[in-house]
Amino acid sequence: MILVLLGPPGVGKGTQGELVAGERGWRRIATGDLLRVAVRGGTELGRRAKCYMDAGELVPDELIVAMVREALAGADADGVVFDGFPRTEAQAAALDEVLDGLRRPVDRVLVFEAPEPVVVRRLSGRRSCPSCGAVYNVYLAPPREDERCERCGSELARRSDDEPETVRRRLAVYREETAPLIAYYERRGAEVLRVAADGTVEEVRCRVREALGRTGSSTAAARSRRAGHL
Ligand code: AMP
Repeated sequence: MILVLLGPPGVGKGTQGELVAGERGWRRIATGDLLRVAVRGGTELGRRAKCYMDAGELVPDELIVAMVREALAGADADGVVFDGFPRTEAQAAALDEVLDGLRRPVDRVLVFEAPEPVVVRRLSGRRSCPSCGAVYNVYLAPPREDERCERCGSELARRSDDEPETVRRRLAVYREETAPLIAYYERRGAEVLRVAADGTVEEVRCRVREALGRTGSSTAAARSRRAGHL
């Protein structure tokens, strides 16, 4: 199963993507996480990506596609969950090309939807651990000890791109660049399913399970439609 998670920043894709991948033994490729590792590691990619990330803009497609190709090279898992990728039509086309080479289409696309005030609140409450990457939310999933990581004890920080002004820009970029991918995948014949993402982690997890559990009656038809496009 090749699964793509779409939805605005703060909608909970990362949390649900981790749960899905963990439950099923699938590989999760989250480009935001890979970029943050590169930034922390001070690599050439991290140095080039940082200013775009801090401004809430997209990192150029060629850097992202090269990074994903590298991540996929070692992926021989049954399933791959893409989280935060693709984010532009050029990235989606590049992913199709890579997957065509592997004879594995995008099978399913989950679109996480929540009202904008919900995602803004989630982002403004989000804190992460600069040492181990654990993520908390001061409103929804606070750490036991105020502003300290439960795993490693480091002081938690707000991501620089979770500042209110940058959040507004990220949401606008999502609407302009990424939301059109819903129609892109529908045109390509992938099975596109909407998931209501307001609610607790457990509630959304159930809806995701339900969406993934559907046998995909249209999958075979979708495959043959897609074959016609290739
Ligand atoms: P995320 O953690 O997915 O919200 O990503 C954080 C930031 O990393 C984004 O605001 C972008 O600056 C950058 N980023 C992550 N994934 C991509 C992508 N697929 N294309 C371009 N930029 C990305």
